[in-house]
Amino acid sequence: MKISGKEYLEYLENAAEKINENRDYITNLDATTGDGDHWVNMNMGFSKIIDSKNELENLRINELLKKIGMIMMSTIGGSSGALYGSAYIAAAKKVGDIEFLDEKSILDLLEAQSNAIMSRGKVEPGNKTMLDSLYPAFEKYKDEYLKRKIDKEALIKIEEAAKEGMLKTKDMVATKGRASYREDKGVGHLDPGAVTMYYQISELMKYLSNKI
Ligand code: ADP
Ligand code: MG
Repeated sequence: MKISGKEYLEYLENAAEKINENRDYITNLDATTGDGDHWVNMNMGFSKIIDSKNELENLRINELLKKIGMIMMSTIGGSSGALYGSAYIAAAKKVGDIEFLDEKSILDLLEAQSNAIMSRGKVEPGNKTMLDSLYPAFEKYKDEYLKRKIDKEALIKIEEAAKEGMLKTKDMVATKGRASYREDKGVGHLDPGAVTMYYQISELMKYLSNKI
């Protein structure tokens, strides 16, 4: 597996489209457990990245990831802006100066993003946040990576782990973020951040699957 910066941006474009298509769904979820701006925030960040595609596509992978993080940090806003920003900047540091993303550097990316969100957001898996779709995907990816090669079957399992994690947020009690200020702690509703994170993981796995 060999993914160039230009290809990573192509994946982000797919993720942007997926987020874009789900405006009302995400807005309603965040209106129910938070303040209703999550879709607007995410859409703004992704649109800005897509608009900057020409300046970004020839950067080295780590420079690209860092730039994506900086754009996300400054344009997404809300709690998720700082979290995505830190996640991408941590991923840039972790993968180092490489020409292509490969199986190992994608594992590094998922690990760095999970760790960054945990430390910046002061969260653990189970707190009903975006981490709840990312972390199971990272764990499954690691499992599959250590067991054998990352093939199409493994990518499906990773996507399924993210989806399952996202679905589990419905019954979770929020201890961080706006949903935790509510009397019901968001119980009975999916976490919007876990859903948009799931879209990204799902699009990434689909993209990788087409490349191997
Ligand atoms: P805000 O909550 O500031 O309005 P957004 O609506 O853009 O920001 O994002 C809300 C999402 O951010 C939540 O659904 C949750 O997934 C995630 N989130 C909020 N606080 C945290 C945190 N401390 N750690 C991890 N994720 C968080
Ligand atoms: Mg919000």
